Amino acid sequence: MLTSPTYDDVEAAAARVAPQAHRTPVLRSSRLDAGLGVETYFKCENFQRMGAFKFRGAFNALSRLSPEQRRAGAVAYSSGNHAQAVALSARLLDMASTIVMPHDAPESKVAATEGYGGRIVRYDRYDGDPAVIAKALAEEGGLAFVPPFDHPDVIAGQATATKELFEETGPLDALFVPIGGGGLISGAAITAEALAPECLLYGVEPEAGDDARQSLRKGEIVTIDTPKTIADGAQTQRLGTYTFDIIKRRVLDVLTASDESLVECMRTFATLMKLVVEPTGCLGLAALRAHAEPLRGRRVGVIISGGNVDLARYASLLAG
Ligand SMILES: *Cc1c(COP(=O)(O)O)cnc(C)c1O
Repeated sequence: MLTSPTYDDVEAAAARVAPQAHRTPVLRSSRLDAGLGVETYFKCENFQRMGAFKFRGAFNALSRLSPEQRRAGAVAYSSGNHAQAVALSARLLDMASTIVMPHDAPESKVAATEGYGGRIVRYDRYDGDPAVIAKALAEEGGLAFVPPFDHPDVIAGQATATKELFEETGPLDALFVPIGGGGLISGAAITAEALAPECLLYGVEPEAGDDARQSLRKGEIVTIDTPKTIADGAQTQRLGTYTFDIIKRRVLDVLTASDESLVECMRTFATLMKLVVEPTGCLGLAALRAHAEPLRGRRVGVIISGGNVDLARYASLLAG
């Protein structure tokens, strides 16, 4: 195993990522604050390149490959945002990329991945194992495998979002972060240890797939069936080895949000802040809404993790 990332790795990742990534805005809404009784700071990774924080981890990981590895190209698996992140990062670094994607991945994410020059290999989400397919492709073609969350370089890259947030707001009292495989929140945890040691860190996952919550309670990684939820960025079956270790050490609790509450938050973001947020990107606000009372009067951060959602699906979710 490689060593778990430290805050030094996060600073090194920030130096690599900053020239290519957007420094996304931290936005607020006085109406939302008034309703919640909480001073809320939203880190808007829906405005990141390719529309989600995943650009940070993918670009950091690909930047660290040797020249020979770069010549061979990269392979990844993803339901969407990591696919686009690897395809775009590969293109920026003059590399080829192959992406293993589920048959039912949102069309906008498939089209964007192809648009960035990624070669797409499809599989059945409820049947095939994308990690096995991607690793086989890596071995056959000598490609560099870029995992979606469980790698120190990916975690350090994702951490740069939280680093920017704390640099702007100073230490916060609490921070709400979506959890899929745990890369984003692991990065948040390492950053909070360095910049905001008192900050209460909450992970949020879809109600239908609460494997991280179960894992934290049980003290070991729990694997579940692929959850059926509109939060397609968090349809993971298990945390990773690196991510679980970091989450266990620093995350106070893992909360869950129902699909209905995610739609309600999509509506709130559109109405009050004019933001288009994908369902998974709403996990943080959904959990804060349900747990705002003990945080009354406090300064709280929420990471809006992404904004990639098909326009037709967005409209039908909001109308439904
Ligand atoms: C990948 C993703 C997540 C989950 O991130 P992990 O690092 O897998 O925990 C959350 N939101 C969006 C928009 C994503 O693309």
